[in-house]
Amino acid sequence: MEVIRITPRGYCHGVVKAINIARDLAGYVEGPIFAVGQLVHNRHVVEDLAHRGITVLDGEDRMSILESIDHGSVIFSAHGVSPELRRRAIERGLRWFDATCPDVVRTHDLAREKVEQGYFILYIGKRGHPEPEGVLGEVPSDRALLIEEVADVDALELSEAKIAILTQTTISVWDTEAIAAAILERYPQAEIHNEICRATQERQAAAVEIGRTCDVVIVVGDRRSSNSRRLVEVVQQRAHRPAYLVDGAAEIEPRWFVGVTRVGVTSGASTPSEVTRAVIEHLQMLSPVPA
Ligand code: SF4
Repeated sequence: MEVIRITPRGYCHGVVKAINIARDLAGYVEGPIFAVGQLVHNRHVVEDLAHRGITVLDGEDRMSILESIDHGSVIFSAHGVSPELRRRAIERGLRWFDATCPDVVRTHDLAREKVEQGYFILYIGKRGHPEPEGVLGEVPSDRALLIEEVADVDALELSEAKIAILTQTTISVWDTEAIAAAILERYPQAEIHNEICRATQERQAAAVEIGRTCDVVIVVGDRRSSNSRRLVEVVQQRAHRPAYLVDGAAEIEPRWFVGVTRVGVTSGASTPSEVTRAVIEHLQMLSPVPA
């Protein structure tokens, strides 16, 4: 079975920055250090940080996590946090360090700027992910709405003259186009700001292009990782090939490769390269399974 390494894959600049910040802090900050939520969405990274003495406190509600910390330092994740969370950390006397990706910071700035200019924000993203919570926390709650799918657009009743469409950085390029088109059909005055980051766009484009030439694609990434899950979806929906998300080599199932001669491998932006390398080596050792 031929194993094709899809490029680009793996760590993006935002993840590298966040991990470096956390590792540096572990080396010189005194007292306990807590990551508020997963620093980046990958179990292997979180385990590595734990070995370095950083306690990663995970959960849906980051404010509750913060309230549970009574001393020491906190690191805010690459996905960004709301100003309210930052303010609360200061109020509680915690030292805080911000590992927000610069691409996410840009979306925060844009959301504030657009609302100041009188726009209403339609933010295309995934409910429950920390990034929308941070971006939407930048603006008054009555000046923005989260849009997850075309059905949400159908339910809108807006009379705003100025509407700005913003997007989460790690969602599907194609899904976003469909949702933005639905918004424009109802509100032609809406202004589009595509905030899907370059790392996400490049990984999705490569996965679709190379995925088309493969029988199966394996995406190495964590189930919590938005960009990893989107890679699976875009291969299935745009390259029309089976795609499977695995956290590591142990999750690979031989039954996926019946009659397969060419398998593509890509990985999410928060997946360590050594984990992807182990998956590739495992696939190279798999015996061909005849159809
Ligand atoms: S996937 Fe994009 S937004 Fe997320 S950390 Fe990487 S560069 Fe930043």
